[in-house]
Amino acid sequence: MNLAYHTVDLKLRHPFRIARSVTQLKKNVIVRIDEGIGEAAPSEYYGENAETVIQCLEKVKDQLGDDPFQIESILSNLSEKISRNFSAKAAIDMALHDLVAKRLDIPVYQLLGLNGSVPLVTSYTIGIDTLVKMKEKTRQAGDFLVYKVKVGVENDVDMVKAVREVTDAKIRVDANAGWSADEALEKISQLKEYDIEFVEQPIDPKDKSGLKRIRQQAGIPIIIDEHLMTSTDIPNSVGCCDGINIKLAKCGGIREALRMIHVARAHGLKVMLGCMIESSVGIAAAAHLGSLVDFLDLDGNLLVANDPFEGLKLDKGKLHLSNLPGLGIIPRGR
Ligand SMILES: [Mg+2]
Repeated sequence: MNLAYHTVDLKLRHPFRIARSVTQLKKNVIVRIDEGIGEAAPSEYYGENAETVIQCLEKVKDQLGDDPFQIESILSNLSEKISRNFSAKAAIDMALHDLVAKRLDIPVYQLLGLNGSVPLVTSYTIGIDTLVKMKEKTRQAGDFLVYKVKVGVENDVDMVKAVREVTDAKIRVDANAGWSADEALEKISQLKEYDIEFVEQPIDPKDKSGLKRIRQQAGIPIIIDEHLMTSTDIPNSVGCCDGINIKLAKCGGIREALRMIHVARAHGLKVMLGCMIESSVGIAAAAHLGSLVDFLDLDGNLLVANDPFEGLKLDKGKLHLSNLPGLGIIPRGR
């Protein structure tokens, strides 16, 4: 199999601010394995960027063998040779699934034995901004059924209040570890007034006892995301949360995401499927697993002004998978 790649500069519609950072341009890597396509959405927070992805791809590109149907063994060989580098691995995993499904002339969800026609309600993320801008972004977003408001800064309760003033849709919040445990409990008690669905990553992921305390006292579901990478991280998180946020770029792709979903279920946890800032390629790859999870936060492509791909439809806050073979994604305008 032949592996090729190129970088893409994804421009954000608005500067995307969360508790610890702001992003205006995201450099991702599009990977092609024969006619299959995948995307690496590296995150500096997890030690990756476009350069580390390319280094990883260069190391493995001649070692993929000739049979794309051996996805499991190709990926386990890869994991033996290279630790972490999850977004690079995810790109290879996606491209292999896309390639195999294209050769079989079926969509990826069908290859996985999943239902591709269930409604995939995704949240739309409102990044940290002035109260006026946050209201404006929510109004402009249109008719989403769920908004995810980024919090974890001083005036965040006012921010959620502002968003609530302009929408009756569900609101979930993500503090991206921006609070202390005491602060989280205080803020959550204030946020409840605005009818919050759940709280994502209230505090530092290392503070397990703090997370347990918040979960026991907050009276609202707690979802964890930061540093919860793969299925082996799940047993340690039991008791600290009600659910986990899986992202293909964190875990290494569709294969590992499936394992995580099953491990999470075995531990009685809810499952959210999230994303990084990425094009329709990475978002579609996650969306094919959408029927298996409780909460979808697959809006990375919608936050981008120049998505080079298309194929995933959005209608009234619901994603619709294409019935084209593979991931169902094609270069825009072709
Ligand atoms: Mg998050």
